[in-house]
Amino acid sequence: MNLDFKPLSIIYHPHYDIPVPKIHSFVGTKFSDLFNNLQKNYSSRLNILTPSSANFDNLKQSHHIDYINKVEQDELTKDYLRLINLPWSERLRERSFLETEGTLLTAKQSIKTGLACHVGGGTHHAHFDHGFGFCVFNDLAYTAINLLNQKLVKKVLILDLDVHQGDGTIDICNKYSSIYTCSIHSESNFPYEKKQGWMDVSLSSAIGDDEYLETLNKTLTSIQEQIIPDIVLYDAGVDVFSNDKLGNLRIKFRWLLKNVMNLL
Ligand SMILES: [Zn+2]
Repeated sequence: MNLDFKPLSIIYHPHYDIPVPKIHSFVGTKFSDLFNNLQKNYSSRLNILTPSSANFDNLKQSHHIDYINKVEQDELTKDYLRLINLPWSERLRERSFLETEGTLLTAKQSIKTGLACHVGGGTHHAHFDHGFGFCVFNDLAYTAINLLNQKLVKKVLILDLDVHQGDGTIDICNKYSSIYTCSIHSESNFPYEKKQGWMDVSLSSAIGDDEYLETLNKTLTSIQEQIIPDIVLYDAGVDVFSNDKLGNLRIKFRWLLKNVMNLL
């Protein structure tokens, strides 16, 4: 099939990678790995945009100023760093400000073009006054709140299909009646204390592709029956994949591969 694709907006910064020891469960080069793969295979179809750093005024909408200052001045104590569970570095500090703004830039670009994708972000465990689970700032909450504050949208849906529940996103966004969080996640995965967002679906680790797709379809239908968001922030965690070492689900994406093959 010969489809005439418009260039797809891809948001990326070369400083997204972080130095992490090889034995660590977080792959520090996954951002450049994915970006380089996209460039290699689809470069003529991509419109690459690069974010600046998130500014303090915008960050204060989703995070406590004392926490932002601690991050900015490299003053996170051992207790803070234990929760984040990544080795602290100048690059991690820098990329935390960049990727947060990167998601906002992605959202703004998608308002212009209909769709934009961020090769980064998804730091959904970060809370208002501390980081958690590899996440320093919460790019999803930051983006949703700033889009509303800047009157670019009236209703935001955060659709989080990462295998881990976005507990930080829910905690920060729960007080906003115009932000709707929906998470489909594994019940047996981190975080072990689940939060109650607008819509939460906990999956057993035993389910297969068919049941996963059915659950996704039902959930999307239920969302459509209740709200019409102006924008969807889709956290496309691929860690539901059977070979992912951090996720407990066993999804093989056979249907996705089949559909992608049909397009090519
Ligand atoms: Zn995850």
